[in-house]
Amino acid sequence: MGLDIQVVKGMKDILPADIGYWHYLEDKFKSLLGGYGYNEIRSPLLEKSDLFKRAIGQVTDIVEKEMYTLEDKGGDLLSLRPEGTAQCVRAVLENGLIHNQSQKLWYLGPMFRRERPQKGRLRQFHQLGVEAFGFSGPDIDIELLLMTARLWKMLNISDVVTLEINSLGTYEERLVYRQKLVEYFSDHKDALDEDSQRRLTANPMRILDSKESSMQALIKDAPSILEFLGEQSTAHFETIGHHLSQHSIPFVINPCLVRGLDYYTHAVYEWKSELLGAQSTVCAGGRYDDLVSLIGGQKTSTPSTGFALGIERLLLLLQEKAALPATKSVDVFIVHDSLETLAIAEKIRDEVPHIKLVCHCGEGSFKSQFKKADKSGAEWAIIYGEDERSNKRFTLKSLRAHTEQQSLGFEDLIIFLKNAIR
Ligand code: ATP
Ligand code: MG
Repeated sequence: MGLDIQVVKGMKDILPADIGYWHYLEDKFKSLLGGYGYNEIRSPLLEKSDLFKRAIGQVTDIVEKEMYTLEDKGGDLLSLRPEGTAQCVRAVLENGLIHNQSQKLWYLGPMFRRERPQKGRLRQFHQLGVEAFGFSGPDIDIELLLMTARLWKMLNISDVVTLEINSLGTYEERLVYRQKLVEYFSDHKDALDEDSQRRLTANPMRILDSKESSMQALIKDAPSILEFLGEQSTAHFETIGHHLSQHSIPFVINPCLVRGLDYYTHAVYEWKSELLGAQSTVCAGGRYDDLVSLIGGQKTSTPSTGFALGIERLLLLLQEKAALPATKSVDVFIVHDSLETLAIAEKIRDEVPHIKLVCHCGEGSFKSQFKKADKSGAEWAIIYGEDERSNKRFTLKSLRAHTEQQSLGFEDLIIFLKNAIR
């Protein structure tokens, strides 16, 4: 259609044909997270830009070039949230939720990054974020990985996702490593792309996160952070690996995995799938023990760990794997020719609370109503015409199976529907 105002580039409407898949995932997430004692938190889409500058780091793609920022009338710079962790930390600090207590939280919602739109990369996308505050690990890190593995199982995609893990150690350990990296990349300065040259002094570890294909060989041969970890960090990391093996969760150690954001410490990980092509990471996270004090000041220091899962990429993966279940928004469609039927429909809804019932509205022959009933995806049609009204009966017809239609009284109709719709 030649509409002259269209949706913003890189953003998408989620249409009714697809919404069932979103509901399917949301239900799975809620049951999974409830099973591990996580509670939902909902926060605004807009935050002060400074929050992200401080938390994510100035020299990152997100803060340098991807944030949607606007100036409020009062002069404040506000940004649409590009991710949820910094905001979640702000919210728990501001509301006293991690003062002398731990918290297990989740949120699901849109995030905004002005990236180059591609398959699996949008400018408005959705994340399920999970954060645990007040646990120094590694037990909680292991549990989060087990929980994610359970999700893949629930969704029948365990065989197409692989786990990569790494450790970023402590801040002090990273400082020493960082120096080694600068030396290494400085020796190969000519081979660095423009972004990496800029990052060489400001944020050299981010070079390891480069998606630039010409950089990959150089990155592969870079010094490994794992050689710079102290005893405690190594033990923390090894415990995670040990338990993953015990639970038969295969994993690969990838020393180049540094994550796109600045605030990670110790264990970091990504769940990837080859079925996703270039945008292969579906879920990513790790420990970020320094973020709470970075946002709230030294007195607020709280060990923290979590992950974010990209819903659009998960849906792509489920589509590729043909693991999306059929969803339907209508169970029963009433074909009729009288206003009285509305009252019958209300009575049915009273008796069968979970029913998805459409009572035809507007004009239309029975033939055209049946076409609509069929298109709606409904399993059954209830016919309530003149004959039925005078006999106080209902005709029930399967729209999908070749079974005989039945004539039922109201009580029997309700019994049938209660059994058929769960
Ligand atoms: P990538 O390396 O793919 O750019 P990232 O490291 O920037 O990802 P995070 O900030 O850790 O990603 O976000 C967690 C997850 O959110 C990603 O693994 C991915 O599934 C999803 N995600 C991130 N950016 C986008 C985007 N622009 N469009 C769709 N999904 C995204
Ligand atoms: Mg990114």
